[in-house]
Amino acid sequence: MDVDSPALENTPRRRSTAVLTGGGVREAVLHTGNEATMPKAVCLLSGGLDSATCLAIAREQGFACYALSFDYGQRHRVELQAAERIARQLGVKEHKVVIIDLRLFGRSALTDAIDVPKHDDAGAIGGGIPVTYVPARNTIFLSFALAYAEVLEASDIFIGVNAIDYSGYPDCRPEYIEAFERMGNLATKAGVEGRTRLKIHMPLSSMTKAGIIREAVSLGVNLSLTHSCYDPNAEGLACGHCDSCLLRLRGFAEAGLSDPIRYRNEQ
Ligand SMILES: [Zn+2]
Repeated sequence: MDVDSPALENTPRRRSTAVLTGGGVREAVLHTGNEATMPKAVCLLSGGLDSATCLAIAREQGFACYALSFDYGQRHRVELQAAERIARQLGVKEHKVVIIDLRLFGRSALTDAIDVPKHDDAGAIGGGIPVTYVPARNTIFLSFALAYAEVLEASDIFIGVNAIDYSGYPDCRPEYIEAFERMGNLATKAGVEGRTRLKIHMPLSSMTKAGIIREAVSLGVNLSLTHSCYDPNAEGLACGHCDSCLLRLRGFAEAGLSDPIRYRNEQ
């Protein structure tokens, strides 16, 4: 499937320009000109298949999408290139990349000198909260999304958390997201003045990885643009053995599809 897949052929052509601003935010503004009457939504976009699918769902539901990604010092920073490609393919209104450095605190295999756990198959993924957990990451990301939404006067935030085929992170659970939504409605000027009523959408929360993949395909998401691996090599190729790779591969297998991305041990 490519960018001109049938599901997207009615999407207006858009031009994009990328600029580097001085405030630690890289911005790609996509000129659309026909979305003035659509409600706005901030969509967290990591570059993985879950967040890409979540963005496609927001778009399908009629939102003008404002994508938000984070360069937080993650070892798999190559995912940001994926996020840019997906934002372009799915025709977001804006794509902002916030630069923060969570290596300052470390203590995660994604932001510190700690090996990413590897397994032979998804069944070997251990219980408990793994060392790839990044302390308070979704709270940090959602706080930025809340600020962006308030500035946009948007009531809607989309996040691709999943509590079925996931790594066991506490900040992916629906009860956490619901608590953040309650907090957000207390926290903003727009909320207190009644101009917005925050709703955090988590459309993937009860879907299996296979179900997410099928949904992505039905919405025309080009999954070859996505990146999931926690520990890619210098060329950005996925390892095939970290939790994220294994959950992704099992999802494709259960969906009866082949994963279009390349893995480093493939010839
Ligand atoms: Zn991997």
